[in-house]
Amino acid sequence: MKILIIEDDITIRSELKSLLERYNYQVIAAESFENLPQTAADAAPDLILLDLGLPLRDGYYVCREIRKSSGVPIIVVTSRNTEIDELTSMNLGADDFITKPYNTQILLARIENVLRRAYGALSENTIQYGGAVLNLSDSTIIANGKTLELTKNETRVLRLLMTEQGKIISRNQIMEELWQTDEFVDDNTLTVNINRLRKKLSETGLTDFIRTKRGQGYII
Ligand code: CA
Repeated sequence: MKILIIEDDITIRSELKSLLERYNYQVIAAESFENLPQTAADAAPDLILLDLGLPLRDGYYVCREIRKSSGVPIIVVTSRNTEIDELTSMNLGADDFITKPYNTQILLARIENVLRRAYGALSENTIQYGGAVLNLSDSTIIANGKTLELTKNETRVLRLLMTEQGKIISRNQIMEELWQTDEFVDDNTLTVNINRLRKKLSETGLTDFIRTKRGQGYII
């Protein structure tokens, strides 16, 4: 699971980063505070740890902006220890709230809880990539807090591409995969299928999730 840290205190930021990496999270730490909603969109994290007191625009603004286009779980981390802050964070759509100085075990437990709530128990029947979780047992994909129902063929295409993430999969390989279903898929039908799937994925903010390698196939 990929976590984006938005924290301007360099010491806290690097401590958090090494802590989370020790617990096998993939961590991205924002180092510029210029356009954080864009940074969050580009990083496509599974969860965001967001400090409230930030230079330029505060965490409230950042949280509100991210929520306009994404349901990604957000835990607000702050030193402002008042109930008002807690309420405001929740109203902005944050999923949880923790005050500094925090106990690292409690922070880790909160992160785990929020991830479980957002993505369900991750089992062998799920494949993750770039903030998306494909669930093979019920043919759904979860990203940015939204769940999409997939058809049998869409699930098969995504399973193939996500299992082989980082590798180019040829159109023939995908067609062969789909021939195992009842439907015969030729070259044109495949293009239609892929375009429909891309459109569907973009509804959860997964734009450019399936990339075309011209003349070679597709890659995730
Ligand atoms: Ca701060």
